[in-house]
Amino acid sequence: MDWRRGRTIGRGASATVSMASSCGCNDIFAVKSVELSKSELLQREQSILCSLSSPYIVSYKGCDITSENNKLFYNLKMEYVAGGALSDVIRTKGGKLDEAMIKCYTYQILQGLKYLHSSGVAHCDIKGANVLIGKAGAKIADFGCAKWVNSAVGATIGGTPMFMAPEVARGEEQGFAADIWALGCTIIEMATGGSPWPNSTDSMSVLYEIAYSGKSPDFPEVLSRTAKDFLSKCLKRNSNERWTVQQLLKHPFLEESCLIRKQDQELDTSSPTSILDQGVWNFIDEESEVLVQSRCLDSCPDQRIERLSVNSRVPKWTWEETWITIRGNNDGDEDKRSLWVKNSYGW
Ligand code: ATP
Repeated sequence: MDWRRGRTIGRGASATVSMASSCGCNDIFAVKSVELSKSELLQREQSILCSLSSPYIVSYKGCDITSENNKLFYNLKMEYVAGGALSDVIRTKGGKLDEAMIKCYTYQILQGLKYLHSSGVAHCDIKGANVLIGKAGAKIADFGCAKWVNSAVGATIGGTPMFMAPEVARGEEQGFAADIWALGCTIIEMATGGSPWPNSTDSMSVLYEIAYSGKSPDFPEVLSRTAKDFLSKCLKRNSNERWTVQQLLKHPFLEESCLIRKQDQELDTSSPTSILDQGVWNFIDEESEVLVQSRCLDSCPDQRIERLSVNSRVPKWTWEETWITIRGNNDGDEDKRSLWVKNSYGW
């Protein structure tokens, strides 16, 4: 399938994520790309994502290799989730979410984890930046650190230090229970807009604190007693005592979560699948001619098709010239939000 790269919508520690549209039918999707020579991790991510299918997990749409600016790129194509990352939603909401929203997103992330864990996959990098918000709610994304728990292949330890469980920080194991600890940290991120370990600023000191201090993160004061109790089950230092997904789904904190699934109406977080969907136009580069044109279009898809065909124009995607190299030689670079602990520690 021929496709065109649009504007960059995210840059993580390992890859660049852009919008894209297919040439024939103008379907839109997101594409995560990295230079082919450095694409081992992205290919590993592809091998896991392609086997998954759940409304709570970003959908896989294929992969390919392209030649751009005399370089070869490996591309992982996936569903475009228009609301962006949960961490960005927290920022746009003034740095914290109210408890009803936290409950709702927690329920949906847990549904995603339930599917993953029952499929034998541990995500290993749950955090606000790796949860995308669509019209129907939260979807887990970024399987760059994910692994089949009972497989010897890919049995490295990885993820984001701030969100690592004690057993992971000590380099002992990284299984399903580590995702539950990271969910607890993500709840703190939603409630405070900050880090679960606000007093540790660099990766090394945070890993040491998690591994050996014997402490769990402080629970945000703003949370109700039930929410704090839920958090205490996620943030048990002993992974054997930490609650499982199934246990957490029955916790009183989530009792009414289905009723509040009526999402934040202020956010236009639809997950368009076609360039003809009205919502997508608002996310395309403000400078682009396409957006200006779209403001004149009617909300009815038929009228939009008519206008597009009358004008005989196709969207002009902005090409991103600059690419960043990520997770290649991350020699303990503290600025990187996510790193392979195996590499920086030599485990
Ligand atoms: P890191 O390793 O730092 O966690 P990464 O390099 O593996 O990141 P992703 O986390 O997959 O990259 O994506 C980076 C950002 O791109 C996300 O935080 C999000 O803002 C955006 N993004 C990723 N996938 C999509 C998607 N399918 N739809 C919309 N936005 C996306």
